Amino acid sequence: MTVEIDDPRLAPLIDAAAQLRRLWTGGEWTEGPVYVPAEECVYWSDIPNDRVLRWSETDGAAVALHPAGYPNGHTLDHEGRIVRCEHGGRRVSRVEPDGSLTTVADRYAGGRLNSPNDVVVKSDGTIWFTDPPYGIVSDHEGHKADSEQAGCFVFRYDPGDDSLAVVSDALQDPNGLAFSPDETILYVSDTSRDRIEGGNHHLFAFDVTGGTRLENLRTFAVCDPGLFDGFRVDVEGNVWTSEYESVTIYAPDGGRLGRIPVPEVVSNCTFGGPSGTTLFITATASLYALTVATTGATFVPPGAGSPR
Ligand code: MG
Repeated sequence: MTVEIDDPRLAPLIDAAAQLRRLWTGGEWTEGPVYVPAEECVYWSDIPNDRVLRWSETDGAAVALHPAGYPNGHTLDHEGRIVRCEHGGRRVSRVEPDGSLTTVADRYAGGRLNSPNDVVVKSDGTIWFTDPPYGIVSDHEGHKADSEQAGCFVFRYDPGDDSLAVVSDALQDPNGLAFSPDETILYVSDTSRDRIEGGNHHLFAFDVTGGTRLENLRTFAVCDPGLFDGFRVDVEGNVWTSEYESVTIYAPDGGRLGRIPVPEVVSNCTFGGPSGTTLFITATASLYALTVATTGATFVPPGAGSPR
């Protein structure tokens, strides 16, 4: 495997000779990787097989939860608890320290959610997630059912007043999402089914206004072939995104820095490991890891200067 560097700005972020490791294979469609520092392990979903898996350097891989509500995206909240998107339960849930699940959000405007796909927690504790239909269009990744929503929205859940609000109804099938380090931009991919046959797929950017609203929707990157699914932002604001059979890295200005070829179609990635510099990649049947020279974004207030 050779990392393809298109722009010299990528060189300090990655060792072009770094070797991609396949840590595990045997899934059907893996997604939703999250690194848990307290356990020094990564959890991820195998959606069609309705299970959550766990890998650590010392323990290797094992099934952590099955059935698991047809899990998809994962993230951590500020207390280190896992927040999970569930296709089967059509909800966002949180894993409590005793292992029990708390529903974060499962209904909007009187109807059930479609099938929450991916989730991020903002520095203010609000939980932002996408709700495309992939868990209800068939029984493959959930349970076939009619949508009870007027569209596929990006939501913001505020634990302060237990409210759920639509922050964008402008996308067709919003999927992965992540904030810039200063949280003034929210990136959202759109995996619209209508565009899958021959069309392009987009990674969009919004300005986050007042910390709660999305404005100024624009195209950040276009993918062809394949699509953008899940992605993460590093401490300097670069976007590390699934893009067909690779993780592609884009600078905050939209410039393509390069790509990490992966032997399978990539669904998502996350930074983790003891020093935060392992990029874990879920790709079709497998979990991969690559050592990089940066780490995931942590919130930096606007105007605070370089995160490093
Ligand atoms: Mg996704």
